[in-house]
This record gives sequence, C-alpha cells and structure tokens, in this order.
Amino acid sequence: MRTPIIAGNWKMNTTVDEALALVEQMRNLNSLTSVMDVVFCPPFVSLHALASVLKGTNLRLGAQNMYVQDKGAYTGEISPLMLVPLCSYVILGHSERRQYFKESDEFVNQKVKAALRHGLTPIVCVGETLAQYEAGETDAVVSTQVKGVLCELTAAQVSSLVIAYEPVWAIGTGKAATAEGAQKVIAMIRAIVGGLYDRATADAVRIQYGGSVTAANIAEIIAQPDIDGALVGGASLKAADFSAICQKTAELKGRKK
Ligand code: PEP
Repeated sequence: MRTPIIAGNWKMNTTVDEALALVEQMRNLNSLTSVMDVVFCPPFVSLHALASVLKGTNLRLGAQNMYVQDKGAYTGEISPLMLVPLCSYVILGHSERRQYFKESDEFVNQKVKAALRHGLTPIVCVGETLAQYEAGETDAVVSTQVKGVLCELTAAQVSSLVIAYEPVWAIGTGKAATAEGAQKVIAMIRAIVGGLYDRATADAVRIQYGGSVTAANIAEIIAQPDIDGALVGGASLKAADFSAICQKTAELKGRKK
C-alpha cells in the first residue's frame, strides 16, 4: 500500500552542465512515476537548472542538506525557504554529514521539523557504523537514532516522511547489507514507529534501504516486505544503472498512485 521511492544522492558530484546532461539521459523515467516516486538529489547549485528542465514531469528533486533557520547571518547555509520553490525532498542526517560535520540526532531532528514546517519531505537517514555493527549494537544504535530524529513529531508528520536505513559500512563500499539483514533492521524501525505512534503510522511511513545498491542487487532488496525503496549513491551517477534500479522497482513493487 506504500508507493515505492528510489532517490539518487549525487553527493558532491556533477557541475551544472554535467547534472543537466545526466538528468537528460533519465527523463524517460517519468513513465514510471505513475507507480513509484523517482527523486534526483543533485548538489544545491544544480537544483534551479534541473527544476526548469523537469518542469511538467513527475520526476522530483531533492536537496542533500539544509539548515534549520529561514534566513539570517548563517554564512554558507541554505534554508528551507530557498529550497521550497526548487525541490520537494531533502536528505537529512546522511552519515557523511554526521561523520564530517558532526551532525547529532538532535540537530537532524530540528532540520526535520524545519523541513516539514515548509512542506518539504525529509528523507531522514539512520544507520550504524562498522564498529557498532561488529559489536552487535545495530538495533540499539538505530533505535536511538530513530527516536532522536523523530522526537516531538506528530503521527501525521511521521506518516509523510521517508526514513533511509543506511548502514555506514555499506555506503560506497560495494558491500551491501544482505536483503534479509536490511529487512530485519527496517522491520525493527517500523515496529519502533508503531510503538511511538500507532499501527497506521507504522504502515504508512516509507522506509528505504541505502548502501551499495546496484542494478544487480535491487531486486532482492525491494522484494523484502518492509523495504519501500532505496537511497542510491554511486549507482545514481550512471544513467543506465539508476534507470535499471528504477525499472526493477516499478516492476516488482510499483503500485498505481
Ligand atoms: C548514499 O550515499 O546514500 C549511498 C547509499 O551511497 P552508495 O549507494 O554509493 O553506497
């Protein structure tokens, strides 16, 4: 009953010209949007140009980060107000932001609230590090993160957002979690949402898997009952690979909107 969602996180890759060329090769994915959501998350500087060329399609754009304030003396930051005319989604709390920019669950929670206040759909990332995975701390770490980033949100707000479970050890390493392993953690996240809110909210919230998703492994990942899509890094920069990931998702889990 949930609409699948595949989002491409381009990270700090592509100039504006390269971004335009890349999206041009993937325009035909618009034909899949009757049964799933397809989101491109380019660097900030390309959002405006891509919003122009995607106008009239159902392909959606997302930003990769955002600050919490609407405006003011925050040199170098981008506000939700600035994003609203350009995109509908925003990735928040990605592990690279947590690792390199020391973003905490509390800060990510403030960003989630700011995004929702402005009608942006957050794609909120959680996931354990390799050391935590090896120490058997996955459930505890992910559970703390989920509770932290969703703190003080209403059931309606949680129903509308997207959670991305991205084990840090799987990001950019070529070592994806097994489909069963990802399903287990994602089912736990759904159960946590059910405990914090109710069954309807748990059933409504969309949860993606992220970490070395490719055209070769998407089928078994998306076949899992609690996995509603993927947040794709490296493979989203190759039009053929990202297109194949979207095609497979539409085939296996697409549902008429
Ligand atoms: C990501 O950055 O969100 C990601 C999942 O990267 P990759 O697909 O390259 O592992």
